[in-house]
Amino acid sequence: MLNDELKAQLRTYLERLQQPIRLIAALDDSETGRDMRALLDDIAAQSDRITLIESDADDVRRPSFAIARADDSVHLRFAGLPLGHEFTSLVLALLQVGGHPSREDAELQEQVRQLDGDFHFESYYSQSCQNCPDVVQALNLMAVLNPRIRHTAIDGAAFQDEVERRQVMAVPSVYLNGEPFESGRVSLAQIVAKLDTGAAAREAAKIAAKPAFDVLVVGGGPAGAAAAIYAARKGIVTGIVAERFGGQVLDTLAIENFISVPYTEGPQFATALETHVREYDVDIMNLQQASELVRGEDLIEVKLANGASLKSKTVILATGARWRQMNVPGEDEYRNKGVAYCPHCDGPLFKGKHVAVIGGGNSGVEAAIDLAGIVRHVTLIEFDSQLRADEVLQRKLRSLPNVTVIVSAQTTEVTGDGQRVDGLIYQDRKSGDEHRVDLDGVFVQIGLLPNTDWLKGTLELSNRGEIEINDRGETSLAGVFAAGDCTTVPYKQIVIAMGQGSTAAPSAFDHLIRTSAPETGERKAA
Ligand SMILES: Cc1cc2nc3c(=O)[nH]c(=O)nc-3n(C[C@H](O)[C@H](O)[C@H](O)COP(=O)(O)OP(=O)(O)OC[C@H]3O[C@@H](n4cnc5c(N)ncnc54)[C@H](O)[C@@H]3O)c2cc1C
Repeated sequence: MLNDELKAQLRTYLERLQQPIRLIAALDDSETGRDMRALLDDIAAQSDRITLIESDADDVRRPSFAIARADDSVHLRFAGLPLGHEFTSLVLALLQVGGHPSREDAELQEQVRQLDGDFHFESYYSQSCQNCPDVVQALNLMAVLNPRIRHTAIDGAAFQDEVERRQVMAVPSVYLNGEPFESGRVSLAQIVAKLDTGAAAREAAKIAAKPAFDVLVVGGGPAGAAAAIYAARKGIVTGIVAERFGGQVLDTLAIENFISVPYTEGPQFATALETHVREYDVDIMNLQQASELVRGEDLIEVKLANGASLKSKTVILATGARWRQMNVPGEDEYRNKGVAYCPHCDGPLFKGKHVAVIGGGNSGVEAAIDLAGIVRHVTLIEFDSQLRADEVLQRKLRSLPNVTVIVSAQTTEVTGDGQRVDGLIYQDRKSGDEHRVDLDGVFVQIGLLPNTDWLKGTLELSNRGEIEINDRGETSLAGVFAAGDCTTVPYKQIVIAMGQGSTAAPSAFDHLIRTSAPETGERKAA
């Protein structure tokens, strides 16, 4: 099952096992069951601290396997094969059940240990979903840390009947004690915050007590990370407040245009961003949403959704952008019940089905090409009279036998049976006629919207809602700078966002030395 190179790597990793572990297999005669047997044999052969046993339990999914300790204090199971993007989750689970410590924040781990209650999590993943490992790994770690937490990670493609019955139409999807708990990427901190209801109030109190910053960056994507590093290197008091550190790159599969790095993947890139920022004295306040910006006489106040507020001499806004919605009836109602935004993540759940892609730009056409390899049929719907994607992508699209392209079409409604999507209605913009397409899923790929709603009326925004800046990153409000996808800069890309962050920070520093003496700590060379 595993090639020699993988076996050798695994053997090296498994040397870190600090205590014996058991693989308890519940197999069947399916192809997945046979592959699972081969995988478990391969794993067990790499370490004499691993024992493989078969279970005849009839209350577990088949094929599946548990990773257990001798004292049965860990309840962690994979149903289906943890391959593709989940292979790392498997290796981590083996190590952590075997006593190898996690690198997660120690305070957060302690919070998990202290959770009081019985929590049985089930998470659905697909092997091609790059957002899923974070969720699977977070829940696995919780099961390792707290014996009252159970987790089963389920490959949706191997349990199609169950997926249909539960109406799981997007991964990752998490159930807690049989009820839907969360859908989409969530971090360990987010899961814990949802379970530990007192944590938000404790965090708000901690934030409210912080003294004023010299530079406060709002947003933890490439622009915010670059701004924070450039500011911290000036030796000034720097903080980042971010709803989701990493930003859009967390939702990105391959990145091939970050100059000097020919290939990387979004989550890996996001981890590198955070690691680099943590090299400096930057106060990172993650999972915090800014809800208001108030320009005081000396200081600028950033109010947060949790009720706390932060003060700073300068602020750099780097709040990026989010998927644009169609805003038609049915879109919200059937979100994650057939309406999806991430083809890489959710495509495998629509295997053999008919889906639509809305949008004929590069991302829409790329999504249609990608999905055509998985689903039965793709109907691509474009508002304009022609596709706007690069010619090379259009040529590839038209060469595919299971793709229909409809142009000059305005989607007016997503329809469903109350449980899930069953089609969409579009209007032919030339004839005005309405048409219906029967479908199982709709992938919306119509661009991005800046995350600036909370700034309306505070500073100048373009008619698209982007923050107006000049070439120094200055906004219309003194002491407030902006960078990245939330601004009027053309071409929303990582290198551009970083370049802008690296412009805004020296501009903020410049502003500080002209308007006040910054409270410099230990000065590092720029
Ligand atoms: C699917 C996909 C694929 C892509 N592929 C590529 C690629 O291959 N190459 C490339 O160069 N670019 C790519 N991009 C574009 C690239 O990801 C963006 O240009 C880049 O991430 C912009 O960085 P940013 O820091 O401006 O914003 P974001 O990455 O959007 O980060 C914004 C940050 O602000 C936070 N935030 C938002 N609102 C608030 C608030 N109110 N309070 C606090 N925090 C807030 C967010 O949580 C996040 O931390 C891709 C984008 C997508 C969606």
